[in-house]
Amino acid sequence: MVGARRSNDWGFPRWRGYGSSREATTVRLCDRHGCEEKGDCPAPKAPNSPERWYFCQKHAAEYNKKWDYFEGLDKAEREARTKDERTENSGYAEAQHYGWGGSGDGSRSADEMRALEVLGLESDAEFAAIKKAWREKAKLVHPDVKPGDKDAAVEFQKLQLAYEVLKAAEERREWKG
Ligand SMILES: [Zn+2]
Repeated sequence: MVGARRSNDWGFPRWRGYGSSREATTVRLCDRHGCEEKGDCPAPKAPNSPERWYFCQKHAAEYNKKWDYFEGLDKAEREARTKDERTENSGYAEAQHYGWGGSGDGSRSADEMRALEVLGLESDAEFAAIKKAWREKAKLVHPDVKPGDKDAAVEFQKLQLAYEVLKAAEERREWKG
């Protein structure tokens, strides 16, 4: 035994022959560091995680008592936030709102095609042409130009989304070199 360890050092799943002889059955030991008891009490490793620790009864009780829901939630929130930032950066948040998404490969996805259609462009349009078309069209329905015009606002938003989708696709292609 190593003596007092940090209480949150739960170690890794350990297996050991129960008994001394070769024909002894292998049992799972308690996952609590340093514990030699049989681990037959499953406990979730994280909220909503299918992964389980296996503790002896005593350590299962201890673990459950210390179970930090907030830590798990913070982590899930952090992951969700990271995901959101990623999607926003690539224009996906808006794209998803409209059921659009990128194909991920270098070819034009159905969403890009739809975006090109919104901008009135052909499928082989260069990004410079995309930018130009977007600017020209967006200018006509810009909220500054047509304040309070609902249709114009919707059209403007559509153009923005189309541009975002195509810009994100362009950037993905650039990253791949
Ligand atoms: Zn134990």
